[in-house]
Amino acid sequence: MITQSSGRPDPTHCPICNSPHVGSRMILRDRFFKVTDEEFAYHSCANCRLLFLDEEVVRDRLSTFYPEGYWWRRENRWSWLEEKYRQWMVSHDQLRFVLSLIQRGEKVRCLDIGCGDGSFVELALRAGLDAYGVDQSRDAVQLALRRAPGRIYCSSEQDLIQKAERFQLITLFHTVEHMVDPFRYLKNLQKLLTRPGGLVVQVPNGASLQARLFGSRWYGFDCPRHIYNHSSDSLLYLLSSAGYRIQRIKYFSLRDNAAAFASSLFPSLDPMSSKVRSLRSKGRPGRLTEPIKQMLYFGLMLAAQPVAAFESALGRGATVTVYVTIE
Ligand SMILES: [Zn+2]
Repeated sequence: MITQSSGRPDPTHCPICNSPHVGSRMILRDRFFKVTDEEFAYHSCANCRLLFLDEEVVRDRLSTFYPEGYWWRRENRWSWLEEKYRQWMVSHDQLRFVLSLIQRGEKVRCLDIGCGDGSFVELALRAGLDAYGVDQSRDAVQLALRRAPGRIYCSSEQDLIQKAERFQLITLFHTVEHMVDPFRYLKNLQKLLTRPGGLVVQVPNGASLQARLFGSRWYGFDCPRHIYNHSSDSLLYLLSSAGYRIQRIKYFSLRDNAAAFASSLFPSLDPMSSKVRSLRSKGRPGRLTEPIKQMLYFGLMLAAQPVAAFESALGRGATVTVYVTIE
């Protein structure tokens, strides 16, 4: 079943740049977590290269798209190795980028929105930041509190605004693409920021070379959890129109770009979706097959790093990370 055919007319304008040049759908399925067999019709904007779902098609059931095991947790005796690897990647990728934006030794008060298992908050605290995280998933918050006790909120941004919380820096790693009405959300975040204040936003790049290469099989589209699959153009347009000033853009992510290539090429090796499917079928991941698959995946990811570096050098990397400020 294609959900867009449920009687709703096609959108006439792009929800981000308002261009009328909207069309050429792409039909996507949940290839990785398989929470549903449905097909979803995404629309594309010829002006800003956004690929988007009609919000009304999924708005009431977004929470059902996130399977058990979606957030990383220790599963077996090999998990410590995987955890070390994940921490190394976050430290040398997202955290390194954030630290490059602030003065050395400055104790910046920061908030990671959509903090998931809390890895970033834990590592940011170790690096000397006054870090907090927030997530609306109770499962994610439970995991994150183990890593960063007393530092994780289970609430919305509106709750934090009402408590008069303020942060100098807010990070949104792979979060904006999951939201309905991202313009309103980003505009509202200004109330959580000090003046001056900054925002780091990272999303998969739907206009990347690997997205073009793999098409509907690209890992970064993550249908139907992603409502908005941004290009760098659509993300910059969104942030600018929400009142932010663009300061820095990068297209390479050590953690994500090669991983997206590897997972698109061999979906069955993708560690997270493999765990989720194992949990669903047997109640727990396979003890022998999982480590072997993870080693294969790791090798594939290493081999894909030069490809990821090449496409990023062309400004067509698999992720876009933007630092914006408000004064
Ligand atoms: Zn557009």
